[in-house]
Amino acid sequence: MRISDILAGKQTFSFEIFPPKGELPVDQAREVSRALAAYDPDWISVTFSAGGSGNSGNTFAIAHALEHELDVNALAHFTCMGATVADVDRGLDAMRAAGISNVLALRGDRVPGRDVVDFTYASDLIAHIKVVAPEMCIGAACYPEGHVECEDFEQSMRHLYLKQEAGADFLVSQLFFNNEDFYRFREMCLRYRIKIPIVAGIMPFTSEAQIKRMAFTCGASIPSRVIKRLVAAGDQKDAQARAGMEYACEQVADLAANGVDGIHIYSMNHPEIGRAMHDVLVGCGYLKA
Ligand code: FAD
Repeated sequence: MRISDILAGKQTFSFEIFPPKGELPVDQAREVSRALAAYDPDWISVTFSAGGSGNSGNTFAIAHALEHELDVNALAHFTCMGATVADVDRGLDAMRAAGISNVLALRGDRVPGRDVVDFTYASDLIAHIKVVAPEMCIGAACYPEGHVECEDFEQSMRHLYLKQEAGADFLVSQLFFNNEDFYRFREMCLRYRIKIPIVAGIMPFTSEAQIKRMAFTCGASIPSRVIKRLVAAGDQKDAQARAGMEYACEQVADLAANGVDGIHIYSMNHPEIGRAMHDVLVGCGYLKA
C-alpha cells in the first residue's frame, strides 16, 4: 500500500531497520522484521548504504521479504550519491521486480572517494523517479534542526520545499532529542508552504558515547535534561541505556499528545525498542491495544 494513502487516513507508527552485515544478512533481517511486525507497524523502512557500498544490495531483498512474507508495508531507502542515471534506473527496476512501491529518496551521506555524478541533491533524484517511475510513492528526509551541512536554517527549509516541489509525497524526520525543535519545525513548514505529511523520527540513545556520535554525525542537539540523566546514570552502560529508553518513551508520548502525522522509530534492529515504544503509544491511546 502507498504510504501517502496510509498517512491520509491516520496517524502512523513505523520502524527503521538496517540490513545487518555477516553471513546470513537477509535471514537476520527477517528475524528482526518478524519480531517488529508483531507490534503492527504501518510500515518498516530499510536503510541503503550511500554510494552503493556495504550492504545496500540487501535492501530490496529485505523489503521484498517484508511485503511478501510478513505482509508489512516496506519503505526502501535509496541514495543517489555517486550514482549515474543508469545506476538509479537499475535500482528502480530492481524495486519494481521486488514489488516495492514506497521509496525514501535520499542523497546519502558523503562517501570518501565518491563524488556527485548525475544527481547532486535528493530533489534531483525525486524529480527523476517522478518521471521514470511515476507509480512510486516517494518519501524524503527532513531535518527539524536544519541539515548538518547547511548553516542557515531558513536555507535548509528552502531546500526542503524543493523536495516537495520535485514530487515528494511525505517526509520522515532526522532524529531529535528536543520535541520543541520538532514543533517549531512543523510551524516553519507551514510558513514555507510545505504541506505534505511529516513523520517524526525518534531514536532512543543507548549510551553517552552513542549520543555524542549522533550529535556530531547528524547535528542533533543534546538538551540539558538528557545530559542530567546521563550524569545520573554515571559510567554504568545499563543505566545509560535505560535512561535513553525512558527518555524516548517520554518523547513519543509527548508527540502523540501533540497530534503528529506519524511516529517513526529508529529501532537499530532491536525489537525491544519497538515493544517499549508500542506499549507507551498504546498506553496513551495513540495506538489500539
Ligand atoms: P539533500 O536533500 O540533497 O540535502 C543535502 C544537503 O544539500 C543539505 O545540506 C541541503 O540543505 C543541501 N541542498 C539541498 N538542495 C540544495 C540546493 N538546491 N542547493 C544547495 N544546497 C542544497 N543515509 C544513507 O546513506 N542511507 C540511508 O538509508 C539513510 N536513511 C536516512 C533516513 C532518514 C529519515 C534521514 C533523515 C536520513 C537518512 N540518511 C541516510 C542520511 C542522509 O543521507 C543524510 O542526511 C544526507 O547528508 C542528506 O540526505 P538528503 O536526502 O536529505 O539530501
